[in-house]
Amino acid sequence: MRMLIVSNRLPFTVIEKEGMFEFKESVGGMVSGLSAYIDSMKTSSFIELKYIWIGWPGITIEDIKQKEQLKLKALSDFHAYPIFLSEEIMDKFYHGFCNKTIWPLFHYFPFYTVYDEDSWKCYKHVNEMFCEAIMEIIKPDDIVWVHDYHLMLLPGLLKKRSPENPVGFFLHIPFPSFEIFRMLPKKWQKELLEGIVGADLAGFHTHEYTQYFLRCVLRILGHEHNMGKIITKNKIVRADTYPMGIDFPKFNNHTNNMQVQKEEDKFDRTLANYRIILSIDRLDYTKGIINRLRSYEIFLERYKQWHKKLILLLIVVPSRIGVEHYQQNKKEIDELVGRINGKFGSIDWTPISYQYKFLPFGSLIALYKRSDIALITPLRDGMNLVSKEYIAARTDKTGVLILSEMAGASKELGEAIIINPNNTEEIIEALKEALEMPREEQIRKNHIMQERLKCYDVVKWAHDFLNDLISVGEEQKRFDAKLLNRKVKEEMKVDFNKARRRLILLDYDGTLVPFAPSPEMAVPNQDILNILISYLKDMRNEIVLLSGRDKDTLGRWFELPNINIVAEHGILIKEKNCDWSIAKQLNDQWKTRILPLLRLYVDRVPGSFIEEKGFSIAWHYRKADPEQSSQQAKDLMDTLVNLTANIDVQIMQGNKVVEIRNTGFNKGTAGMHWISKNEYDFILAIGDDFTDEDLFRILPDTAYSIRVGITQSYARFNLHNYVEVIELLRQMVEVNVISDIINKEIYNEIPS
Ligand code: UDP
Repeated sequence: MRMLIVSNRLPFTVIEKEGMFEFKESVGGMVSGLSAYIDSMKTSSFIELKYIWIGWPGITIEDIKQKEQLKLKALSDFHAYPIFLSEEIMDKFYHGFCNKTIWPLFHYFPFYTVYDEDSWKCYKHVNEMFCEAIMEIIKPDDIVWVHDYHLMLLPGLLKKRSPENPVGFFLHIPFPSFEIFRMLPKKWQKELLEGIVGADLAGFHTHEYTQYFLRCVLRILGHEHNMGKIITKNKIVRADTYPMGIDFPKFNNHTNNMQVQKEEDKFDRTLANYRIILSIDRLDYTKGIINRLRSYEIFLERYKQWHKKLILLLIVVPSRIGVEHYQQNKKEIDELVGRINGKFGSIDWTPISYQYKFLPFGSLIALYKRSDIALITPLRDGMNLVSKEYIAARTDKTGVLILSEMAGASKELGEAIIINPNNTEEIIEALKEALEMPREEQIRKNHIMQERLKCYDVVKWAHDFLNDLISVGEEQKRFDAKLLNRKVKEEMKVDFNKARRRLILLDYDGTLVPFAPSPEMAVPNQDILNILISYLKDMRNEIVLLSGRDKDTLGRWFELPNINIVAEHGILIKEKNCDWSIAKQLNDQWKTRILPLLRLYVDRVPGSFIEEKGFSIAWHYRKADPEQSSQQAKDLMDTLVNLTANIDVQIMQGNKVVEIRNTGFNKGTAGMHWISKNEYDFILAIGDDFTDEDLFRILPDTAYSIRVGITQSYARFNLHNYVEVIELLRQMVEVNVISDIINKEIYNEIPS
């Protein structure tokens, strides 16, 4: 098994110098996390990880020969497969849609968000290019792991082209709340979500992001979920939380690292007399660097006793230099640092030591080790690995982490001083608290956090994700195995043709017709009626339509000779060419007690309505707001269970409907009416919801039973949707007509 890791950027950036390619490490949490996972897998003695990393190499190359040269080098030296993108495409895709639309919006900066149709088209185009590139190298056993917001359409595209390969998607930035997500044009919202839902497993850093995603899927695509499991038209998708960890030993165990030692010595020479506050981030307006500096400024104004005893080490790593808001942010930082140093500094003391550069691993660790406080105050951050790395690097367990509650990492690092980055006062007081925190307390808190980080490290993160990805695939396979395949279809047709008496039990809504916004709209079309008539003309066939609908509608819609109808889920039966009869004398007095309650819910949930039938009442909410109605339906179920404790009724929640009806009747009891006659040598039952399960359960083993939709069932087989049911019924009856013609010729018989 091979893993294809797909991300916008490769873990390195290629630089061309005098016709030669140089490879430089890429910056960012996603790359460093995944690289750490790969490194640790390489050193692990018992698992051999075969992988290819697919992405943009950070350079634009036009020359075909050069492209080939780079491809070869990347593959042989780095297990990488570069995707080449032109400067113009990169501009609209990366600087455009990714970093001017998705990034600001998903980080709750709607006023920075640009809505540009051209960039959106380019985003789609690049996702398609990635899909093409993957198709060039993918093998049947490969697992594909797609990363981050640049490639949200890719899982859907890939699954269409290569449905057998497991495809996982992980979002490394926050998934925003519905109110923010809905700011995107509707078409984009839908396509982005469909892209992610195209994966087998979608992972997020925190429980909130997962919930926000599921909420958007429900509200925008209309798919409900059960504990994060979404069942779409033809597949299962799981959404779950996987907080990304770090390579703990790498940050914790560096005693033999000469580079770290050298850097530490340097610090000792220059900074030994100061308490150090560390601030380190990529240049990004989401990181809250301005708020941090303003708070530090006020801190210095308020607590003069700390003058000349404290230095803020401000490391800003260059990033997305081409995007306007980043340049502006850089300018503001430069000015503010100048102002603070000018205001409080002296010949022998500079309150802020500011560096605008990327630090290699050795310097980074030395910084983590030498800093008394890490001040990390993003306004929004998907995870924030720096905070975890700081804690891990504190081998003597001292040090204080001040962390924004807006960073995903705050969910796991609860022992840190958690602040709201918009509240300057909180940051100032957190600084004071951190500087005064007793050593024992620091050790106690960091010990707890270190233990947690050690347990849920980056390897565990990736393992959990990949294991779950495989298990979703297995679940999907179990369903696929039940799909009515061509071979079974052929056997079924043969059995049908051979049979002297055939019983065909059919549900109506969702089985023969799709769901309509209101029940009266789902009228059978001529096509369905023709198919039914073809069956009904042949006296060997017994057709039974079993529905939850009322008898009047069914009687009106299916005025066909020879048809048997069951209404209200088995309470009323109309045998062919006879009148309706009630299965047993029933009491319907309970309806007057239930109706006022249902009316209350109709008032509460706009778009919902009541359908009153002879011995049952249904509250439909298909047309209502999906989220509100789903919540209210649970509420109603709860209330009904209490209210009907002493009444002989049952409550059922179906597909966007809550139904109350007399007990003792179901499609199973109704179906037995025919099955118990023991005269059929071919039985077929098809239905789409839990009310049909009562029927599937009582069928003899030899019967063919089909559940419409990808879901667990007592039925032996599944079909995806009503279209496939119609096709199956049509094929069987066509086969029948052909064989009848043959029979007619051989036996001189005329079919009845
Ligand atoms: N990093 C680094 N050198 C630097 C600054 C940061 O190697 O000078 C690494 C750091 O170790 C961390 C990553 O870059 O692993 C930043 O990840 P984080 O999640 O904190 O922020 P992101 O860049 O993903 O927004």
